[in-house]
Amino acid sequence: MRRVSIFGATGSIGQNTIDLIARAPQDYDVVALTGAGNIAQLAADARRLGADVAVTAYDDRLDDLRAALKGSGVAAAAGHNALIEAAARPADWVMSAIVGAAGLAPGLTALEQGATLALANKETLVCAGGLVLDTAARNGARLLPVDSEHSAVFQALIGEDIAAVERIIITASGGAFRDWPIKDLAKATLAQASSHPNWAMGQRITIDSASMFNKALELIETKEFFGVRPEQIETIIHPESMIHALVGFVDGALMAHVGPPDMRHAIGFALHWPERRDLPVERLDLARVSQLNFRAPDEARYPALRLARQVMERGGLSGAVFNAAKERALDAFIAGRIGFVDMASVVEEVLGQFEAEAGLIDAPMSLDNVLKTDHLARKKADGIMAERAGK
Ligand code: NAD
Ligand code: MG
Repeated sequence: MRRVSIFGATGSIGQNTIDLIARAPQDYDVVALTGAGNIAQLAADARRLGADVAVTAYDDRLDDLRAALKGSGVAAAAGHNALIEAAARPADWVMSAIVGAAGLAPGLTALEQGATLALANKETLVCAGGLVLDTAARNGARLLPVDSEHSAVFQALIGEDIAAVERIIITASGGAFRDWPIKDLAKATLAQASSHPNWAMGQRITIDSASMFNKALELIETKEFFGVRPEQIETIIHPESMIHALVGFVDGALMAHVGPPDMRHAIGFALHWPERRDLPVERLDLARVSQLNFRAPDEARYPALRLARQVMERGGLSGAVFNAAKERALDAFIAGRIGFVDMASVVEEVLGQFEAEAGLIDAPMSLDNVLKTDHLARKKADGIMAERAGK
């Protein structure tokens, strides 16, 4: 029996993970499941899987969670410290599927206890790549990618020497607005940005796909995970989302990972690694697919890509700044306080402010410094947006 925990169990990735685990319950001993506001889902899954503990991130929902778990034998807990305590419970395999920088601290704690960390939460590597890799190495813990592109690269690299890699190409669907006239983007609504052409995902990552902030995070994630140079990382628009990534080698070979857009492949690969097991994903019929298309991304449409290059070159804590500013700008777009194209300009301005203050981005990468930087970047983003609103 493998002991497994799922952080962000009630979300899109979390539910897909539970779908796989619930197909073979005899193989898994479920330690912790965590969620936030969806108490009914969290409690139902914790009961069904017989978890030791269920945790809501929201302190004020503890009573609700206790009531929903009454008589089940599942312990209830709430709040940030409870999340960290749950991550410290011994487990063999931990899914990191909280959305945003909130996923960082529980993931680090899971690595400290030596668990294999299946990383859907890309923000972890964007904010604190060096710290996360060091923590894994020090504790003999393993990181496995769950982001579909990074799982694809990981799979293309099996048996290969990273020194023989010339380039990594991360594909992008182009999101909801890939065919819109650029001049119309300023008027894009929340509902329009929240619909993805190919993937069913949480709302935040779906909007980040429309702006390509998601791809920007993934480029940074690629640099951190695989330790390649920024100039080796490319992205290309591939509207069908069938090829998830390609790895180009020094001899000119290009290895592509092809499959339908279903996250249960990447989750299942990480769950069963180093084995491969049967997974409930559609088998591609290439004759029916018939055509795959590609085009170069336009940085005028997707300024987030240019900012990602800037962050990859800059290093240090710039990833934490970039992500935090992006999270606040996204909050503001969701709340209807700023427009779609304002998100990128807010993030760019925050990066500029940090660059202007010596020492901020080059502080040593400790959890404390990452969290302080995250906090300061959110404040600066809020300040910029308040000032713009006042004009
Ligand atoms: P989601 O919004 O569907 O779910 C997020 C989960 O995190 C929920 O369980 C929610 O309760 C929890 N959560 C939210 N705020 C929290 C907080 N402050 N503290 C603790 N828990 C909190 O998101 P998702 O689409 O499942 O994405 C999860 C992560 O996986 C993100 O980092 C995303 O970028 C990444 N990812 C998702 C997909 C996908 O297909 N959905 C693909 C690749 C990577
Ligand atoms: Mg992805």
